[in-house]
Parts: sequence; structure tokens; C-alpha cells
Amino acid sequence: MLPTPAIAALREKFPLITELMALQPLSWFNPGIAPAAEALNDVGLTADDVADASARLARFAPYLARAFPETQASGGIIESPVVPLPAMQAALGLASGVTSGQLWLKQDSHLPISGSIKARGGIYEVLKHAEMLALDAGLLKEGDDYSLLASDAVRAFFGQYAIAVGSTGNLGLSIGIMSARLGFRATVHMSADARQWKKDKLRSHGVTVVEYATDYSVAVEAGRRQAQGDPTCHFVDDENSHDLFLGYAVAGQRLKAQFDAAGVAVDAQHPLFVYLPCGVGGGPGGVAFGLKLAFGDAVHCVFVEPTHSPCMLLGVHTGLHEGISVQEIGIDNLTAADGLAVGRPSGFVGRAMQRLIDGYATVTDEELYRLLALLEQTQGLRLEPSAVAGFAGIPPVLAAPQYRQHLDTATHLVWGTGGSMVPEQEMAAYVARGRALLAAGAD
Ligand SMILES: *Cc1c(COP(=O)(O)O)cnc(C)c1O
Repeated sequence: MLPTPAIAALREKFPLITELMALQPLSWFNPGIAPAAEALNDVGLTADDVADASARLARFAPYLARAFPETQASGGIIESPVVPLPAMQAALGLASGVTSGQLWLKQDSHLPISGSIKARGGIYEVLKHAEMLALDAGLLKEGDDYSLLASDAVRAFFGQYAIAVGSTGNLGLSIGIMSARLGFRATVHMSADARQWKKDKLRSHGVTVVEYATDYSVAVEAGRRQAQGDPTCHFVDDENSHDLFLGYAVAGQRLKAQFDAAGVAVDAQHPLFVYLPCGVGGGPGGVAFGLKLAFGDAVHCVFVEPTHSPCMLLGVHTGLHEGISVQEIGIDNLTAADGLAVGRPSGFVGRAMQRLIDGYATVTDEELYRLLALLEQTQGLRLEPSAVAGFAGIPPVLAAPQYRQHLDTATHLVWGTGGSMVPEQEMAAYVARGRALLAAGAD
């Protein structure tokens, strides 16, 4: 925690910090938002970089279809459905009044291989690294069918190399499962928030799991240090990686194609609001970058964080980015949303995206459980606590004067970021908790 006078000075300059410290759900719309044509130049990455990532994923599709049979149906492309949520919309009361619009869910919860949004960026970065090594070693040539990478000889070659990552759980699952399948030696440094089943699952895939009693930033730092001492080890840097970011960004064009196919219009008269749960920022930041490239000013992105882990809001609002953590203003970073339990944001994402993200909201753990149970009850969909955070971003948008004009023709898309791999018993406990809170609230 910062010295008391330093906190007082911050609160004086940024009154919102007092509200954050009170742990009450709140929202903040960034007055610094700028037109996409201008602000996309802040990012340092371009549409060509995203197209390059997309083409690389297409090259790997034959390999993925072979190595992960569950991706055969999609031809080795890792993508999730986008579905309307009419019953959830009615339950949330959004259908009433003039602010109807349409509520949809992006089901990254059901992405193949690792069951979370991390199957985008995490898997992409591992594939890119593998491609580079195989090309350099002459095991792969341009134009080859990448399914040859599934051979025992190539697996033995990758076995000379290591991949390491620090994670609250889901990034570790993606990197670990993908790395191990290719043949790499994989190490995942897990923060105290990580669920036991995620560690067990990784170990069953032959991944080394190092456990920490501390939070995410410490696990990442330990992983980074370990990798530095080993020239054969590639460290996946969740706080700074451009490759992770680009892997996530591919989602933008994919969603555009899905909405085109479903007849969902997105333009100035039919704005698209996308609600993304935010941890360190790489996942939502990368997806938002792809969305801005695909839809320009017609898309408005809102990040949602736990009231106990509002790191990106704090970093962007103060302009201090990775130079401040929630712990430094006395917030504990303890939340049931394990995927969002991050106290210090990515400075790379905060700076790159600060003029492209419309707003930020925070949500309590109790509300996450209620939303999780409501989604299960109304739509039969089961997501993990982190993954339903987006729903909490909707009410602030409906109340914000700047969006009023086209709300009746708007599409609200909640990015459902994980949950399909949560063990049955654990999911049942989440739902029971949420139902109890809903029942208590109904009294
Ligand atoms: C990691 C994660 C997020 C947020 O992604 P960041 O890159 O950490 O911001 C959201 N939801 C789930 C389920 C996650 O695992």
C-alpha cells in the first residue's frame, strides 16, 4: 500500500479512486475516446498484422484438426458460436421501454481445446513460436501441409525447447495443453487464485505446474525470471506480448462474418456494444482492437472488472498504467472471478487501447454469481464467474446519455469468456450459490 499522503493526493486528483476504494460497483466512460481512424494509430500494430495472424492460424488448421479431433468439425479453426439470449434479455428487463435492442452472447466459454478466450491468444502464440523453430530447422517449408508437425520426429525436436507462462489459470491451460501436444516442455506458474482442477488437468497433460501462494503478478515475474536463465525457453509474457494480442484480435473479422451470416446489422444507426471481462487486459484489449478494425466507430467496447480487482480502470483513469496496482490503494485483489484476479494492468494494452475503449465498469462477486445462475436458468448456459462479468456493463451503457439515440436498434454482445471445462461439481456449486443469492434478493 502507498503511504497515506500519497493516497490522499491521488484521491484529491482522481475522486473516482475514493469510490474504487469503497468497493462499490461503478462505471467510468473515458472522455478521451477518439475516432477509430485516428486512435487505431496508437496501437503500434495494424490490420496487416492481424491478417498475418489469421493466415497463420489457417496454415495450422490441418495440424489442429489432426492433433485435436474436437476441432475437425470446424476444419481446425478454433472459433466459438455467437447466440442470441432472448430469455436472459427478458429476465434482465432490457426488453422494456425504449432501450430494447438485442442481447447476444459470444461463447468463448465453448472454444475447443481449452474452453476459454485464452484459446485465441495463448494457442496462437505457441503456434507462432513452433512455426518459427520448425522453419529455422528446415522441418517445415512454405506451402507444406502443417499436419506433418504431428509426427514423432517433430515432437522430439520440439522436446529440446521449453515454453513457460505465469497465469491465474486459463492462460496456463491454453499454453500448457497446446505446448505439450506439440512436444514442448511446458511450465505453468500458477497464482494462488488458480483452481485446483486446472492444475490437475495440466499435470495430466504432462505440464509442470509451479504453485505460488501469491497473486498473478508474482507468478508472472517468477516465470519470467526462470525463462531468462534458459535460452531454449520461450516465455509467454501476458503483460506485454504482441503475439497474444494479435491472436485475440483475429476474433474481430470472425465476428463480423458471423453477424453478416446471421443478418445482424452493425453501422452508425445500429451500434454494437461489446462487454468484455478484463484481467490483465490482453484478451479484451486484443479482441477490442480486432473489433475496432472490423467495425470502426460503430462498435463500442466496455471492459468489466471485479470491484476487488479494477486494475485496468485504475491504470487508464490515472494514466499511471502498470505504474500502479490496486493493492497500492488498499484493494485486496481477492475475487471469485479467478480469471480476472489481476492487481496490476498491462501497460502495453492500457496505452495502446486507451482512446479506443469507451468505458469501464466494476462488478461484485455476488452479482457475478447471480448473473451466472440467471444465465443458467434462462438459457441453460453454464459459464464460470469471470465469464459473465460483461453483463454488468449493460446498465451503465443504457443509462449513459451519449448512447441514447440508437439504443432501440443496438446490439449488445456479452463476451462469455470461459466455463465449458469447469468440472460438473464445481459448476453445480457456482449455480447453487447464485440461485441462493437470487432467492435472497427476491425477498
Ligand atoms: C483471462 C480471462 C479473462 C481476461 O483476459 P485478460 O487477458 O487477463 O484481461 C476473462 N475471462 C476469463 C474466463 C479469463 O480466463
